[in-house]
Amino acid sequence: MDLKKPLIIAGPCSAESEEQILSTAQGLAATGKVDYLRAGVWKPRTKPGCFEGAGVEALPWLSKARELTGLPIATEVANAKHVESTVPYDMDLLWIGARTAANPFSMQEVAEALRGTEKPIFVKNPVNGDVDLWCGAVERLAACGVKNIGLIHRGFSGFGAGKLRNAPMWHLALEMRRRMPELTMICDPSHICGCRQYLGDISQQAADLNYDGLMIESHCNPDVAWSDAKQQLTPDAFNALVEALKWRAGESNSESYQTALMGLREQIDSLDREILQLLAERMNVSENIGLIKRDNDVRILQEARWEDIMERTLTLSSTLGLSEQFLHTLLDAIHIESIDRQNKVMKK
Ligand code: PEP
Ligand code: MN
Repeated sequence: MDLKKPLIIAGPCSAESEEQILSTAQGLAATGKVDYLRAGVWKPRTKPGCFEGAGVEALPWLSKARELTGLPIATEVANAKHVESTVPYDMDLLWIGARTAANPFSMQEVAEALRGTEKPIFVKNPVNGDVDLWCGAVERLAACGVKNIGLIHRGFSGFGAGKLRNAPMWHLALEMRRRMPELTMICDPSHICGCRQYLGDISQQAADLNYDGLMIESHCNPDVAWSDAKQQLTPDAFNALVEALKWRAGESNSESYQTALMGLREQIDSLDREILQLLAERMNVSENIGLIKRDNDVRILQEARWEDIMERTLTLSSTLGLSEQFLHTLLDAIHIESIDRQNKVMKK
C-alpha cells in the first residue's frame, strides 16, 4: 500500500457531536501531523448501557470535518450494515476493531461487504493473543479482493497487562509482520496504554520496532470524553507527543557503529549458546530427579517445592534487573519442559 511513513491517524475515540468532531479536527489539522482523522461511530462496548456510539448520525459530521480541514476521514466498521452506511460518505479509510477481528463470522460478513474495495482497510489485532486468528481476518479480506490491507497493533487483553490496559506482547505483532511483511503495520498506543502517562514510551517503542505509523486518540476535551477519557490527548498534547518521537533509521553505515554492533552481537550469540547449554544441563538433572521419583514411587509434582523455586527466583527480580513478568514466563517455560521430561522417564 502506498501510504506515507510514518502514517499518523488521530482523532477521538468516539464521535460525540458535530461540535466535538469539528473542533478536534481543526485542532489536529493545525498540527500538520495528521494523515487521517479517526472517530468511532459504532462503539463496541463490553457492558450494555455505556455509550455505544452516535451511529449513522455521526457520519455527516466526519464528512463535514473533511470538508473543513482537508483531512481524510476514517471510522470503524463491524458488520455489513456499517459498511453500507458509510458508502454515501465515501470514507477514506476503514478499520476493523479488535472484537470483530476475533470473530470469523463477523470478519466474513465485513469482508463480503467490502468486496473489491481499493480503500485502505486496517485490521486491529484480535483481543486474544492468537496470530492465526489475525491472519485469518486478513485472509478473508484478501479473498474478497480487498487490495489495500493494513494492520493495527492495539495490544491483547487477559495477559497480565500490569500498568497498561492491554499487554503489548510485541512478539505477537512482530510475528504477524514476519508472516505478512508486505502489509503496513501501525501501532495504537492509546488502547495499549489506557492512560496518557505511557503513550510517549509505547509510541517510541513502536517507532524503534520499525512500525509504519501510529493511531492515537485525541479529543478536544479529553476529560469529558464519552469513551476512553483517560487515554485521549488534546490536539496540543498529541502534537507534543508526535514532535518528540524519533523515527530512527534502520541501518547506519558508520564504521564505528558497525564494529560496536558486531562485537555486541557476538557477545549475545555466545551468551545465548551458554544459556541453552545450561538449560540442557538443567533438564538432564530434572530427568534424573524423575528417575529417582519413579524408583521410589513418588509423583512428579510437589507443589511446595515449585512455589519455593518461584518465590526465591522472583525475589531476585530487582537484584538482577529482570522484570517479575519475564522471570515468571521464563520459569513457567522451564517448569513445563521439566515436567514433560520427568513424565517421559516415568513411563520408561
Ligand atoms: C477504537 O479504536 O476506538 C476501539 C474500539 O479499539 P479496539 O477495537 O482496539 O478496542
Ligand atoms: Mn477508544
